[in-house]
This record gives sequence, C-alpha cells and structure tokens, in this order.
Amino acid sequence: MRTTSRLSDRARELDSADPLAGMREKFLGHDDAGVPAYLDGNSLGRPLAATLDRLNEFVRNQWGGRLIRGWDEGWLALPRQIGDELGLQVLGAAPGQCIVADSTTVLLYKLARAAVAAGGDRTEIVLDRDNFPTDRYVMEGIAAECGLTLRWVGADYDGGVRPESVAAAVGPQTSLVVLSHVAYRSGFIADVPAITELVHRTGGRVLWDLCHSAGSVPAELDAWNVDYAAGCSYKYLNGGPGAPAWAYVAARHQNDFNQPIRGWLGAGDPFGMGRDFVPAPGIQRVVSGTPPILGMLAMQDMIALISEAGMDAVREKSVQLTSFAVQAFDEVLAPLGAVLASPRDPSQRGSHITVDHPAFKDVTARLWEQGIIPDYRNPNGIRLGLSPLSTSFAETWTGIEAMAADLRAGS
Ligand SMILES: *Cc1c(COP(=O)(O)O)cnc(C)c1O
Repeated sequence: MRTTSRLSDRARELDSADPLAGMREKFLGHDDAGVPAYLDGNSLGRPLAATLDRLNEFVRNQWGGRLIRGWDEGWLALPRQIGDELGLQVLGAAPGQCIVADSTTVLLYKLARAAVAAGGDRTEIVLDRDNFPTDRYVMEGIAAECGLTLRWVGADYDGGVRPESVAAAVGPQTSLVVLSHVAYRSGFIADVPAITELVHRTGGRVLWDLCHSAGSVPAELDAWNVDYAAGCSYKYLNGGPGAPAWAYVAARHQNDFNQPIRGWLGAGDPFGMGRDFVPAPGIQRVVSGTPPILGMLAMQDMIALISEAGMDAVREKSVQLTSFAVQAFDEVLAPLGAVLASPRDPSQRGSHITVDHPAFKDVTARLWEQGIIPDYRNPNGIRLGLSPLSTSFAETWTGIEAMAADLRAGS
C-alpha cells in the first residue's frame, strides 16, 4: 500500500506543478463525480463549455436568423477557414492546403484514389498490417477497383512501422504508401519525415493518417514534405461524435488532384449549375457535397484552446502524462502480470499507452460501471488515452489504481 500512496502523492504533485492544469476546468463534465476517470479522450474528446454556447448561438442566430443567407455570409467558407486555422495551430501547414469535410474513411478513399491516379502505371500500394481497420479496408477496396497490388509491412506489437521496413517494401512499382503518424494501438510515433523522404526517392507518394496525433503530437506537414494527410476531429480535437474529418493536400499536388467523387461543391462555379464538372482551384476541389456545418462548429473551440496553450506545451503535458502512466504501470500493473504494449521511450510515444492482460475485457466492463472509462482493444488491451488538456494526473492514477484493484480482486 506504500506504493499506492506514493503514486497518489506523485500524481498530486504533478497536477500542482502543471502549467496547463487550469484548462481542464474548461471542459464540461470535468467535475462529474459519476465519472472519476475519463481515459478515452483518444476515442471521443470531451466537449468544451464554450461549445455549448457556440452551438446555441449558431442555431438561434445564424441558422434561425440568417436562414439560407448564411451560406453566402460565411458557412461556405468555413471548411477552408477551419482547415487553415487547424493547419496553422496544429498541423504545420500553410494556408490553402487543409479542408474540413466528410469522415476520415471517405477522405482516405478520395485522397488515395486521386494519388494512385496521379501515380500513372505504378502498381502497388504499401501499407501496414497494424493500421486501423478503415485504412486497410479502404485500400483493399481501391486495390480491387484499380487492379493494384497491396504490399504489407509488419510492425512490432509494442512499436510501429520503421523506415527500414518501408525501405524494403518500396520501389519503382510503388504508387502510394499509407501509414499512421501515431499507431492507434501501441501509440508508436512513426518517423514521418524519414519515411516520406525515402518513398519520394522511389518516385512514390505517401498518405499519412493523423487521427491519433492531431491535437496531441505536433506535426509539420509542410516541413516534412508530406504529400497527403487526413485525420478525424472527434478525438484530440474534441469536435464531438461524428464531427467531420480534415484533409491536407500539399499545394504542389492540388493541380493533379483528380476528385473521384465529383460533386457540385468541388466544382469551380457551383452556382453556375454548369453542364460539365470543372474542378475548383486549390483545396476546394477535395469537397464533394454540402459541408456539414453544424458538425464542424465544436472543433473551433478546441483549436482555439490548443493555440492558447501552444502545441509544444500540449506535447510536454502529454509526455508527462504517459510517462507517469508508464511509471504507475511498472509499479502496480506489471507485478500482476500485465504487459506494456507501447514504446517506453517517450519520444516514440503519442498520447496513449496500451496495456495487455488476458482479463482486461472483463475488467474494462466492470470499470465502466464505476465511471472509470478507458478503452478496450482486442485481443486483450486496455488503451489509456490521456488527452493532454482535459486529463489530470490524479485522474490517470485513479484509473490505473482501479485496474490494479480489479485484477487483484480477481486473482
Ligand atoms: C479513429 C480512426 C479512424 C476513424 O475513421 P472515421 O472514418 O472517422 O470513422 C481512421 N483511422 C485511424 C488511424 C483512426 O484512429
């Protein structure tokens, strides 16, 4: 029990030394006694209190007051405007390259389909076995549709895809490589600039999925010379359930972006109602149909909060949170037979860690009943998603202590 009180003291010290501690109070539900630990911000971020006001104001005054006039008065520009702000504050992308639209799945399809079309007669898409299911399924579909071959890259269960493995898989036949910046299971951070560069040397392009990094791990899409990227907004960007995703297309690839889902709002003159599809200039051509305006309101509050904190400070807090979680794992979970399935080196780790134990499926169900909410991932991993601005060290400890207590009670 001495370990327990020492870790609880340590969590309290870290919270009182945390320069971003005050930000947690800006999230709705942070003081909900029924949820002593929310450790799933990497699946669905908490709402900000500011979002409640924003949604209320929008429905009352903009939708209710401006009616159809709203489209001309700003709604149509919102996907690009939020995209630019996201690019500036979070993604390291200059204006005109990011746009909010669709879901990640649909954007992955559109970007990859356009990329392989631009790849001419190159025949292969390279991807990893551990990538998120939607990424794999979409690429399998595109391979079938376009007669391409998938070349699979392996990854360690507690790590991810390394430049050497990608180098061994790419060549003159490679059209596109599709990988995640942060692995959804292990939390491993891929070396985006090194991998992007080695793929470019073979003449291929890379599509990066940033679902598990955007808003928690800094990105430098322009400086890293990334071709295409996409990510969701409901994880570390707190956009809410079903909030639309975002896409990045580097300026140099926008002219050869051949939109596979041609719709009127990706056309240059949508209200000309013309006979033929003529794509809009720039990033607008990634759009297909009417943008989901209601769904993209909330993420603006989180982007503003991240900008107030600064991405570097967000990352620093994230590293401290996962480092504390690993320390607590070593002291109370490892002795009970749990295994860390995430990198130990914080520079290789995003904002979540995964811990494996054969009993975790049942443990998770019991924890949820107590309002202690981590994430369960097959085959037997508990994922602790530590959203930097809304998660405290004390809350992290509460969750890990409850996992240990449950394992002890069951053994
Ligand atoms: C969460 C996640 C997705 C989700 O895709 P949606 O279309 O937004 O449901 C895709 N890829 C990765 C890596 C994810 O973590």
